[in-house]
Amino acid sequence: MRVAMFSAQNYERVLLDELNTSHGHDLVYLDTLLGPKTALLAAGFPAVSVFVNDTVDRTVLEDLARGGTKIVATRCTGFNHIDLEAADELGIQVVRVTNYSPNSVAEFAVGLLLALNRKIHRAHNRTRESDFRLDGLMGFDLVGRTVAVIGTGKIGTIFGRIMAGFGCTVLGFDVHRSPEFEKFGGRYVDAEGVEAADVISMHCPLTPETYHIVGRRTLGRVKNGALLINTSRGGLVDTEAAIDALKSGRLGGLALDVYEQEADLFYRDLSSSIISDDVIRRLISFPNVILTGHQAFFTQEALRTILGTTLDSISDFEAGRTLTNRISRRLDG
Ligand code: NAD
Repeated sequence: MRVAMFSAQNYERVLLDELNTSHGHDLVYLDTLLGPKTALLAAGFPAVSVFVNDTVDRTVLEDLARGGTKIVATRCTGFNHIDLEAADELGIQVVRVTNYSPNSVAEFAVGLLLALNRKIHRAHNRTRESDFRLDGLMGFDLVGRTVAVIGTGKIGTIFGRIMAGFGCTVLGFDVHRSPEFEKFGGRYVDAEGVEAADVISMHCPLTPETYHIVGRRTLGRVKNGALLINTSRGGLVDTEAAIDALKSGRLGGLALDVYEQEADLFYRDLSSSIISDDVIRRLISFPNVILTGHQAFFTQEALRTILGTTLDSISDFEAGRTLTNRISRRLDG
């Protein structure tokens, strides 16, 4: 099957070529993001594959449908970038990758927390300049502290279990309770409980209900000096409100692997460009902010599973088999 691979990175191409030997698809790699201006590039491709920052809204889907696209395969778990209702209406099937090493993201979130708390990013920069002072590098013991997990699904549960292993009290905030989360001692709380935590980590999907779920109100009530970790989706946190909370000192530190306006920035080398986004420049200027470019998923195991599952889904579609990773507004409500 002819597949237009949008946002294809070099590290993906090598692995896709290797995995595709057992599928035999005609993979065409495109550097560009899929969006209203680039959708026409997919004309004549029955399969289109996208990543987190591609735009797959109604307009784009209409262009894809006109060009003969029948399946959109997103190489990620989240599907906030895809208009499922429009896809259903246009008869385009959408598949994602539901289960690829949730450990990759959970472990990265733990890494961000440790670095943020113990100022490892600052220590690293200092020692490179032969500055071995400790001033400003003090953190706190995690043992005995309270960690709130917003979204106790696959990733949130693993993150919570690791933090329980550190000797933390682990709290969960979710619309559904997970027995797995409670098995290691995770305890469900309401918004007030989250606000009392020393650490808050985001692991729910971005939906209209969760947009800015951590906003000005929550950030005004969090425990003084609390640390906020977001490895889920940028839109979950009101970035401007977070900047104000950092400026006031209420928020003790912020670690982000995702950013509200990341689509124009991430996965590109902009080191010789002038960045016009003043919000991200402000964020980067704080000593107690760590920003990474949406890499929490990026392990050998996860990437192999993501790409393998994507090709499997396209092959299943071509052979008329059931699509186990299909997402549809009708199915997901
Ligand atoms: P999951 O579906 O297993 O878990 C999500 C949890 O969020 C579920 O328990 C769900 O009930 C909960 N939730 C939904 N709406 C909620 C609400 N309004 N309030 C509180 N909780 C709510 O998903 P997962 O595999 O654990 O992934 C979680 C998220 O992580 C994804 O949606 C994606 O955005 C993000 N992610 C990021 C990366 C990365 O590289 N940074 C990689 C993979 C996934």
